[in-house]
Amino acid sequence: MTNTALITGANKGLGFEAARRLGELGWTVYVGSRDVGRGEEAVARLRAGGADAVLVPLDVTSDESVAAAVDLVRADALDVLINNAGFGGHGIAPASVTAEELHAVYDTNVYGVVRVTNGFLPLLRKSANPRVVNISSGGGSFAVITDPAQPIASMHELAYSSSKAALNMITVRYAQAMPEVKFNVATPGETVNHKFAATDMNGHRGQLTVTEGTDSILRLALIDADGPTATFEDRLGPLAW
Ligand code: NAP
Repeated sequence: MTNTALITGANKGLGFEAARRLGELGWTVYVGSRDVGRGEEAVARLRAGGADAVLVPLDVTSDESVAAAVDLVRADALDVLINNAGFGGHGIAPASVTAEELHAVYDTNVYGVVRVTNGFLPLLRKSANPRVVNISSGGGSFAVITDPAQPIASMHELAYSSSKAALNMITVRYAQAMPEVKFNVATPGETVNHKFAATDMNGHRGQLTVTEGTDSILRLALIDADGPTATFEDRLGPLAW
């Protein structure tokens, strides 16, 4: 039977590359995109490369959009959900940040993941080996943020890093509550080498390709039925929370 995955924010960047790589493996890939035009363009590129790609209009900040996406995919079991859509916010320091900024970042990176996960859980439960991969960041790790050798330790922003820390905790809490579904966290970079993947989110300043950046995502998407749950991994392996 064909494996199926839904990837949020798959119209570009790491989400698109994860869709391309799963398509290459023969999976049916549901391509989440909040903008239909950008999503159609991405699906056309994926299909041109031979992938079985299906557009799923999906804005993770909207309950209605998530419900419509669930209806669209409803016919199938879903083997893997990749919560990839992310918003970096505006890099505002703690003393200047506003509740509006926090809300905008959390709405995508935190509440969005819960909306989408809870919406798709009934479809995941139809799979023999359901897996959820949440895309976080080294910035969501207390171990990384408190390491003075990490550049991010001296970048004084609040919204994005704390949203990813919340996402890490959310992943562990889901994993504990639902052992029959695997919930893991992937971060795209090589944290110890201070490397991340070049995408629009970072102005393409990353040193890794999107293919390298999706290695941890693919690894956790492809775990088998006795694979891990509640882990946090980057490209090189397990990462401290
Ligand atoms: P990107 O190229 O900017 O892609 C972000 C994707 O998220 C886009 O498809 C974007 O859609 C989508 N998105 C944003 N808000 C959304 C919403 N409300 N609903 C649905 N989709 C939404 O950035 P990226 O680097 O590939 O980021 C992917 C994930 O990796 C993010 O969660 C990010 O935090 C994480 N990450 C990346 C790196 C890295 O090395 N690049 C490092 C750490 C973590 P639009 O095109 O419509 O804006």
